[in-house]
Amino acid sequence: MVLRAGPMSRSDLASITGVNPSTIARCLPDLLNDGWLQEDTKVSARRTRGRPTKQLRPRLRHHLAIGIKIGPELLTGAAVDLAAQPLARGRRVLTDRDPDHVLEAVASLATELATIARETTGPDAAVLGVGLGVGGPVESNGVCRTSHIMGWTDVDVTTPVARRTGFAVVANNDVNTLAAAHHWYGFGRSVDDLAVVTIGCGIGSGLVIGAELQVGHGGSAGEFGHIPLDPDGPTCACGSRGCLESLASEAAILRMVRADPGHGHVESVDEVISLAERGDAVALAAFRSAGEALGRGIATLSNLLNPELVILAGELTRAVSFIEPAVREAAARYAFARSWSDCRLVIDRSGNDMWARGAACLAIRSAVQSPASMVYVPRGPLS
Ligand SMILES: [Zn+2]
Repeated sequence: MVLRAGPMSRSDLASITGVNPSTIARCLPDLLNDGWLQEDTKVSARRTRGRPTKQLRPRLRHHLAIGIKIGPELLTGAAVDLAAQPLARGRRVLTDRDPDHVLEAVASLATELATIARETTGPDAAVLGVGLGVGGPVESNGVCRTSHIMGWTDVDVTTPVARRTGFAVVANNDVNTLAAAHHWYGFGRSVDDLAVVTIGCGIGSGLVIGAELQVGHGGSAGEFGHIPLDPDGPTCACGSRGCLESLASEAAILRMVRADPGHGHVESVDEVISLAERGDAVALAAFRSAGEALGRGIATLSNLLNPELVILAGELTRAVSFIEPAVREAAARYAFARSWSDCRLVIDRSGNDMWARGAACLAIRSAVQSPASMVYVPRGPLS
């Protein structure tokens, strides 16, 4: 059911997918009866190959999906239609990172979002599932092996939520949910090879290659922050030395600024930003150094995967004006020219909403058990 290009005729569908028209004719009744698609009752004025045709359209609001980003202090959730457009949004403040407490709040938020969304879709809309974005690798069985940000080890994040809500539940690293969001309806909606690089407390990446989200054998593909850049560098949270994260995260920037005798009192990256805005040379040098390390990391990524698009996202994008020039300079200097010259670097300043909608995208994809390219993505302005 490839409908990325929007409403189309049966013959268009056969032509785009390469699927035999007789196979499409055999499959369509189920897709129509199950409420995935509807077919116009009248012939469209639009002409394809000289003949008027009936258009097949997705029934966007016959199904809905729920996505929740799990953060250490906040759950951010969204219920979306089949095109990942929001039907409802919600949040829960967390007072405790204990998995039982967090997953109970997740289940409660998911149930609430489904109820609110059905006020728009009607009570019969089917919940395809709940997608969860977690700050750490998640195996295909729904177990988060480790999440530094939540302080979790070997936590089954899907079963307790499924048991409490009755919905199907899938989970993935939250950076992957952001990559899915960008691929489906964000900056990468017309791109099949992209990387989302997140910068903040940690550094990570979500990779879409050949229109498929790459999660790796154990769910830990894209650990971009732990590319080793400097064997003599600072100790990293992972225990290694000189990883990109140890050179370019918020903690790394603070460490560099505090190393200056006159800046030992600086307590936060927001303070460093204020200093940089006033032209403080130490603050500007720290951002430049972080940007340079990030650019070298992105050069590696470009050489390895040759993405068409790299999207820089995360909390540290609030300081992007101080970081971005060095990122671009270093990436251009260290990447193979042929790979980098084809690649665009863009900045995503959106907040948690995009991550939550991306988690819902994963639930939709899981429900249709199809590659990302098989889900309807309407063309039009970004939302
Ligand atoms: Zn590391």
